Amino acid sequence: MVGMELTEKAPAKINLSLDAISRHLDGQYEWEMVMTSVDLADYVRLTPTRSATITLRTNSGFLPVDQRNLALQAALLLQKTARVTTGASIMIDKHIPVAAGLGGGSTDAAAVLRGLNSLWRLKWSPAKLAQLGAAIDSDVPYCVYSQTALVTGVGDQIHLLPKLPPFGVVLAKPRVGISTSRLLRRINDVSQLTHPPVATMVRAIEQADYSGIVNNMGNALATVSQQYYPQIAHVQRQMLRFGADAVQMSGSGPTVFGLCTKYSRAQHIFNSMKGFCRDVYLVRPL
Ligand code: ATP
Repeated sequence: MVGMELTEKAPAKINLSLDAISRHLDGQYEWEMVMTSVDLADYVRLTPTRSATITLRTNSGFLPVDQRNLALQAALLLQKTARVTTGASIMIDKHIPVAAGLGGGSTDAAAVLRGLNSLWRLKWSPAKLAQLGAAIDSDVPYCVYSQTALVTGVGDQIHLLPKLPPFGVVLAKPRVGISTSRLLRRINDVSQLTHPPVATMVRAIEQADYSGIVNNMGNALATVSQQYYPQIAHVQRQMLRFGADAVQMSGSGPTVFGLCTKYSRAQHIFNSMKGFCRDVYLVRPL
C-alpha cells in the first residue's frame, strides 16, 4: 500500500563549537563539534508513487536536481538499502541559503530519510537512519536529530545535549559561497589550527549557563576561511558593534551568527545588519 503525502521540516544548523581533530588518509576529518538547529528551515514535501522512480524538484533556480543533490542521494540510498519497490516525488521548498555553512544540503537529505522512513513504513530508528546518512555527508547524522548535540568521529557519533537556554540568533551571510571540501583541502596541518574548548562548551550547555556558552564558542576553521574571505571578519565586527554578546562563523562559513539574550537587542542587530548583507535572519534555537 502507498502512504499519504507528507511534509518534513529541515532546519538549518549552526556550530557553537567546531574543532578539527585529525585528517584520515582518505581525506575524511575527525571532528568535535557542538551543533544546534535554528528555526530557519527548508520544507521537504514527499509524495508516494507506485512506480520505483524517485524524482526531485526545488523552488531554487540553480540547485542541481539530479544525483548531485544530497536529498536525491538520500532517497535512492534508503530505497536501495531497505529494498523498497515503490518510489516518491520530492519537492524542496528552499529557504536556507546554499553553500553558507548552515548545512542546507545535509538537512534536506536528513529530512528525506525521516520522511521516507514514515512514508514507506520502514520503522527504522533515528540511529539507523543517521548511520545510513553518514555515507552521504558528515553533517547528515546530526541533521537526522536536529537537536543540540556533541558530534564526534567523522560526524557519525551523536551525543544529545539538553535544550539550550532561550536567546536570539542573528544570521548574516556575506555575499560569497564557500565549498567545504575545497576549504578543507587548503588545510596543511590540523595541529596548527586554533582549537576551541569543546568540553567546556558541553559543560556550559549541561548547566544552562548562557555566559559559559558565549565565552567558550570557537571555530577551528574560522582563520582559514577569513584568510580567503575577509568579508567574514568584517561582518563579525559589525555584529559585535551593534551589540551581539558573541559572534562566530558557522561551519566552514561564510555565514556569521551573533547571540543575544535580549530579543529586542537581537532585533536591533538584525535591522542594522540588513544594511550590510542581503541574507540576514533573526531566529531562535529549536
Ligand atoms: P557543507 O558544510 O556540508 O558544505 P553548507 O551549508 O556550507 O554545507 P550546502 O547549502 O549544503 O552548504 O551546499 C553545499 C553544496 O551542496 C552546494 O554546492 C550545493 O550545490 C550542493 N547541494 C546538494 N544538494 C543540496 C541541497 N538539497 N541543498 C543545498 N545544496 C545542495
